[in-house]
Amino acid sequence: MHDLLIVLDEPTASLYPAEVDFMIGIMDEMRKKNTLLVVEHNDKVIEKADHNIYLGHDGGKNGGYLISKDEYMKLQEGSLPYRFFKRTSCDTRVLDSDYVDYAGSELEIPHGSILGLCGMSGCGKTTILRKILPKCYEDYLYVSQKPLKGQSFTTVATYTKLLDEIRTCYAKALGKDKGYFSQRGKGACDKCGGTGVIEIGSFYEEKLFDTCDKCNGTGYLQEVLEWKVDGVNIYDIQQMTIDELIASGMNISAKADKMLKLLSDLGIGYLKISQKVKTLSGGENQRIKLAEALNDNKYSMIGLDEPAKGLGKRETARLLGLIYSQVSKNKKTFIIAEYDTMFLNYCSYFAELRRKGQSTTIVFQGSREQLFKDKKNDIRNWLTANPEELK
Ligand SMILES: [Zn+2]
Repeated sequence: MHDLLIVLDEPTASLYPAEVDFMIGIMDEMRKKNTLLVVEHNDKVIEKADHNIYLGHDGGKNGGYLISKDEYMKLQEGSLPYRFFKRTSCDTRVLDSDYVDYAGSELEIPHGSILGLCGMSGCGKTTILRKILPKCYEDYLYVSQKPLKGQSFTTVATYTKLLDEIRTCYAKALGKDKGYFSQRGKGACDKCGGTGVIEIGSFYEEKLFDTCDKCNGTGYLQEVLEWKVDGVNIYDIQQMTIDELIASGMNISAKADKMLKLLSDLGIGYLKISQKVKTLSGGENQRIKLAEALNDNKYSMIGLDEPAKGLGKRETARLLGLIYSQVSKNKKTFIIAEYDTMFLNYCSYFAELRRKGQSTTIVFQGSREQLFKDKKNDIRNWLTANPEELK
């Protein structure tokens, strides 16, 4: 079979650098007789393509525009000054799990710093983050790219509790009952019950809906829509993006301001606050969970699983910037399983896992300086040594 149009969505995501080369080899074979359409962030894959289509400038509603290669390259110029954090303390945990045989290995946890966990896919990095560390530390939180838990109507604003803050703000400012500012409460449109749609019949087994003509799909009672704070009603505020809400200068609450700033700093300010969480990408899911974790002082240790997956360089730099500030200001500890070399270049400590037969051992662990002196590890071969920046 040949002459197929084959579409690959980020084929190199979650691959170790050596595995990326292998994947490129497979794609070279495939494209001899077929056409490949590949969605990718990886520079090596982009270089290999016969034609590239660049999309910009940002995510969500600010994205989807065709841009030139030059513009794209400019957008990719994400970098931030290197900063390496000396650990404030260190302890050792025996890796013990029913899922992976770590052969009694002990992992050093550098507190108050950033630890990069490296190793081929399947060597047990996620098991450490998801299964082992939660048992070891009470103040540890694992943040994955898995979809957020919630009902089908859960939105960014409800999940992050922003909507609750907004409703409280409206109720106080207008002297009304808070229930009016909910489509599931007193504020619900009396024709559609707050859903914004009405059933108009059925087609075969499927119910057919149309926009409610009484509330124009807002789901709110007309009188509630007339109540405004700073000229904005409860429906319109939910149509704003996170960045638009920040720019509006509305004083919702200190709590809301903190959450909005975190979400924007994490590079997802383009999301509409009423966006349903089930429509978010893995990276967006993870960054919302991260904002939640950082907003809660309960957690001083955070495990991130492939935070750079699906992100361009500029977004990666932005995320790293936030992690840096959390480490320097709040002395948080980050343990990060990652393949992205740009991301790993900014880590201060490393642990490299290697699978041998049925078990996995730690072949290297230590600081960045030690990494470049060590002869056994693989990571040093694909990280950039920046000795002048080793401070
Ligand atoms: Zn209605």
